[in-house]
Amino acid sequence: MRERLKSMPKVELHRHLDGSLRFDTIFEHGQRLGIFDHLKSSGMKAEEFKRQVWNKVKILNPMASLQAVLDSFWLTQKVMDDEAIIEQVAFENVEDCYRDGVVLAELRFAPVFIAQGKKLSHASIIQAVCRGVDKALKKFPIQVGLIFIIPRGLDFAENQASTGTLVQLLQNDSLVKKYMVGADLADIEHFDAIPRFIPMIDELRECGLKITIHSGEDTDASFLASSFELYRPLRIGHGIKIIQDAKVMAKARDLGIHFELCPTSNYLTRCVPTLKQHPIRRMLEQGLLVSINSDDPHLMNIDLIHEYTMLQDVHMFTLQEFFEINKNALQASFLPEENKKLVAQKYFN
Ligand SMILES: [Zn+2]
Repeated sequence: MRERLKSMPKVELHRHLDGSLRFDTIFEHGQRLGIFDHLKSSGMKAEEFKRQVWNKVKILNPMASLQAVLDSFWLTQKVMDDEAIIEQVAFENVEDCYRDGVVLAELRFAPVFIAQGKKLSHASIIQAVCRGVDKALKKFPIQVGLIFIIPRGLDFAENQASTGTLVQLLQNDSLVKKYMVGADLADIEHFDAIPRFIPMIDELRECGLKITIHSGEDTDASFLASSFELYRPLRIGHGIKIIQDAKVMAKARDLGIHFELCPTSNYLTRCVPTLKQHPIRRMLEQGLLVSINSDDPHLMNIDLIHEYTMLQDVHMFTLQEFFEINKNALQASFLPEENKKLVAQKYFN
């Protein structure tokens, strides 16, 4: 069945390329940079060292909180310390999507997060990601778009600067213009800070980018109501707490908002107590639009097929339901209409 799910055409809208590095890539570059030296002890065998690193960079069990998961991102963040590696990571993410049977992928990344503590400029990071995707698309026949992330928890001025950089690049860099399709707010959601990012998101929307917001992941439905109003997003990352509030659900239906769901991620960050209690089916029953996504597959030691297999086993989804979900995901994609049309004609007739 895994093979069947793998070959089924899928649309993935929510995968963080800077949160999903292959273990071999982390291990190779991390060793070169000495990031894991503190895990070495004298007389330690090579396999034992590798196992220690593995345990540090993988989230295999539910973590204490969303914050604890975000903390573990920082370990792999250190690896992306030059343009060549960032390009490689972007390339490998496209290849991973292709191997998962994804026919249209949207990959997201936060230049401010990648740049932290390094000499890399935001522009060089954005351009390196675009080059990596461009190279990969010469080899793998899928459609890919990129989403720019503003991480709410990081320095505000840095976020303003990186937004300004993207606005400029969208005017004068053809690859950036070609691949950047959306903008997103991610990271911890504090109620007081919700309106702070409106000018940045408005500016990016005016440049033609489409908006998705991480909201209602570990926060209640009132955060979603605010996000809808202040940011006018077309899509929401997670948004699972909407299930608590019939009024907010009605609002989402009226606005036609699409929810990018990432079940295992929600379980590992303890936003849902068990996979069985994930609200994906209840959200569908409420008439909400959803897609199935892997969020940070390598970090969480999963792939997209794991999510489909789990939903089949735990939530009794059928292949026909998966087909409908992917068709809706394609509709909700931020890629240009002509790219979406190609995918629709080939796979979702
Ligand atoms: Zn996410």
